[in-house]
Amino acid sequence: MAKDEKQFVTEITPQGEDFSRWYIDVIKKADLMDYSPVRGCIVFKPDGYEIWEHIQHELDRRFKETGHRNAYFPIFIPESFFQKEKEHVEGFNPELPWVTEAAGEKLEERLAVRPTSETMFGHMYQKWIQSYRDLPVLINQWANVVRWEKRTLPFLRTSEFLWQEGHTAHENEEQAREETMKMLEIYRDFVENYLAIPVITGQKTPSEKFAGAVDTFSIEAMMKDGRAVQAGTSHYLGTNFATAFDIKYLNRDNEQEFVHTTSWGVSTRLIGSLIMVHGDDRGLVLPPKVAPKQVMIIPIGPPKTRDAVVGRSDELFAELKSAGIRVGIDDRADVRPGWKFNEYEMRGVPVRLEIGPRDMENGVCVLVSRISGEKKVVEQSNLVAEVQAMLEQVHQEMFEKAKAFREDHFYSVNTLDEMKESMEEKRGFTLAGWCGSEACEDQVKEETGATSRNIPFEPATQHEHCLVCGEKASHTVLFARAY
Ligand SMILES: [Zn+2]
Repeated sequence: MAKDEKQFVTEITPQGEDFSRWYIDVIKKADLMDYSPVRGCIVFKPDGYEIWEHIQHELDRRFKETGHRNAYFPIFIPESFFQKEKEHVEGFNPELPWVTEAAGEKLEERLAVRPTSETMFGHMYQKWIQSYRDLPVLINQWANVVRWEKRTLPFLRTSEFLWQEGHTAHENEEQAREETMKMLEIYRDFVENYLAIPVITGQKTPSEKFAGAVDTFSIEAMMKDGRAVQAGTSHYLGTNFATAFDIKYLNRDNEQEFVHTTSWGVSTRLIGSLIMVHGDDRGLVLPPKVAPKQVMIIPIGPPKTRDAVVGRSDELFAELKSAGIRVGIDDRADVRPGWKFNEYEMRGVPVRLEIGPRDMENGVCVLVSRISGEKKVVEQSNLVAEVQAMLEQVHQEMFEKAKAFREDHFYSVNTLDEMKESMEEKRGFTLAGWCGSEACEDQVKEETGATSRNIPFEPATQHEHCLVCGEKASHTVLFARAY
């Protein structure tokens, strides 16, 4: 049964050779997903799905803490709903799958399989909201959505994916905008402090905003190939959907007024992001807070001490487990420790715990960090605290490493030629001035393959002139090639 210890590493294409290949190798080998028979759809296998469950659990807690409640709305949306908001239908129509018949009969009205639920929430909010006393309405839903994508990539872009969508209604613009920014901040804090991914917060340019929104805000993360992933968005929808769905309320002056709405979401793209931000040539590196297994115990030593070592390992396992640490133990006798070390490194387990006969005698064991490879001999009597400290340290190191990588791949240019050169040769995020015209933005995209990611709230550099036309810049924009 013992396999060559090097086998794992050589089976994963090195990142520097072909990053896309590396990504597919890793997610397949770590058993996170499988392809489904339907093109563009994937199966989330238990280890992949559990990462989502941890993301979901913590975000759900944060949503509830800020006054939101969960509900569930139907997956089928009547075609007529989409026609009510012009920009919305134009934005989503090309990606919609339709149900045209059921139980052998043609439907009177086609039903879209939801790509997002602003219209369905709009329809219901029109019925539920009458007076300012009904406001704000703060509802979130955890659901699957479908967008028929031409080019797909597991977790990052699939035809069906899992997400949450918050939909809120407020008395006025000020309150709705406050909600929009509050949720963006929840996303930023979660992604940085839970997934250890540094992000850049900012506002989308008009051509990149959500179809039907007044303003869209995003958090943008840099993958290890320099590409960007939009990791979360929060939209101020103004009265666009309220007008389309006639969501009026009686205000404090006894007058009818439209509500102001917001929507915000993150999806299973976060799984793809954390893999691409943290992974290395040995495989996955999972952030401790969402890793299905945070610690893996591996008993070592010769056969004659095996029973005693395994017995002690079981006790340590029970102790860590009862402290709420997600711990596993691999005590298989027919698999060599070296093979196991590679296996759990490849699976991204943040901390490995080794224990052998001599450690037993000394009352110690060895903790090994996945991110740094650091080995630390710790007292068994203080194990829970030592493990918790190392998990926290791993998280911090992952965040700092990702941030350092981003800083090393962060550029600033003044002209389109410089941008072209930057995109061709360096790969990364590039700041540049922009006049505000869509034509200039399109030209950047055409000639460099980079899109405007957002207008950062706190850009590292300020630019006075548009990189394309040279006119006065109205904004400093973050450009990158993106997933
Ligand atoms: Zn321009």
